[in-house]
Amino acid sequence: MKVLVIGGGAREHALCRSLSQDPAVTELHCAPGNAGIARVAALHPVDQLDGAAVTALARELGADLVVVGPEAPLVAGVADPLRAAGIPVFGPSAEAAQLEGSKAFAKDVMAGAGVPTARSYVCTTEQEAAEALDAFGAPYVVKDDGLAAGKGVVVTEDRAVALEHAKGCDRVVIEEYLDGPEVSLFAITDGTTVLPLVPAQDFKRALDGDQGPNTGGMGAYTPLPWAPEGLVEEVLATVLQPTVDELRRRGTPFSGLLYAGLALTSRGTRVIEFNARFGDPETQVVLARLRTPLAGVLLAAANGTLAELEPLRWDEDAAVTVVLASEGYPANPRTGDPIEGLDEAEADGTAFVLHAGTTSGAAGEVLTAGGRVLSVTATGADLAEARAKAYAGLAKISFKGAQHRTDIAAKAAQ
Ligand code: AMP
Repeated sequence: MKVLVIGGGAREHALCRSLSQDPAVTELHCAPGNAGIARVAALHPVDQLDGAAVTALARELGADLVVVGPEAPLVAGVADPLRAAGIPVFGPSAEAAQLEGSKAFAKDVMAGAGVPTARSYVCTTEQEAAEALDAFGAPYVVKDDGLAAGKGVVVTEDRAVALEHAKGCDRVVIEEYLDGPEVSLFAITDGTTVLPLVPAQDFKRALDGDQGPNTGGMGAYTPLPWAPEGLVEEVLATVLQPTVDELRRRGTPFSGLLYAGLALTSRGTRVIEFNARFGDPETQVVLARLRTPLAGVLLAAANGTLAELEPLRWDEDAAVTVVLASEGYPANPRTGDPIEGLDEAEADGTAFVLHAGTTSGAAGEVLTAGGRVLSVTATGADLAEARAKAYAGLAKISFKGAQHRTDIAAKAAQ
């Protein structure tokens, strides 16, 4: 099977790593990729938002499957011309990707499907926003309606800060605050059958102790020893299946990866958000535990044959990933610095390094090229072991201004 992966972050590196280990995959390509992905896939400098260019590349390569990783190309509709050309593609249509592309659309689908989520108002004027803030009270939750790479959400006790964020957006969703721990649950779906993966937790804030600004994610782990029994079955029955059914009923079937961001509140499980693709950095740990070869699963989703698939097989092991970010991330990430110690970090096979924002320099050196630079990932018999190994690997890597959280999975590992 020839597979083409679209994207160039650590999620795509994790996807490419798993695909490269699948014996069914004879050729692996990635566009645009990064310096780490280049080790397992042939890179192509194609604009990932250009559906015609991606389709032309897939045709030229004779790709049997295209996997679209990030939300931006999905929301831009890159999967549509691929599908129209008869090429199997893992990833939803532009219309179905609105589940992530518009928070207001997601709320509407959830209302139609009877899926539990935070009560909310969609506001387009300052006056409406002010009234919505006062209706719910503090802590205030204000979300930019459109795509914002995980950075469009402000959760604050300060009404002025909340209103200021609302003013900066064309359309905002203001919603009730959900207490309780968060869980990320991914499901692979062909638009009818829904196959949940193992739950994970990510760390959205930049600094230890969940302080600092929201980011794309600073680390993740799986499994969740503290999660209630039957959580996956409950979420499948009350969230994932009804959402997939509702989208099909509306004539916008969703095939690809449905990501439910959940809060386990004192009043029950609630959806915080949906994403239309694998989450980064949770993918790094979820795929580290998946034993079933990945390509066949993604192809079955693309071809609408998930119901015929054998149940997924998982490692009992735990997995932890820690993100190494550049100085100034998330506000003003600095780039262009040489990265040292990449080989050393993987030398003893304890940890593996997934590249996010990296590029190759003229002399073959690896340079930082984005906010989140690397994800150092390890598995172990339990979370404590996986965590120790991931941090041991991370300690060998350095670049100017590198920053990371020191408390990823710390509480869960105790
Ligand atoms: P989102 O982009 O919707 O995932 O939001 C980013 C983060 O903001 C989430 O992971 C939560 O930590 C937080 N958040 C979003 N919505 C709420 C809410 N209604 N109540 C509490 N925290 C929230």
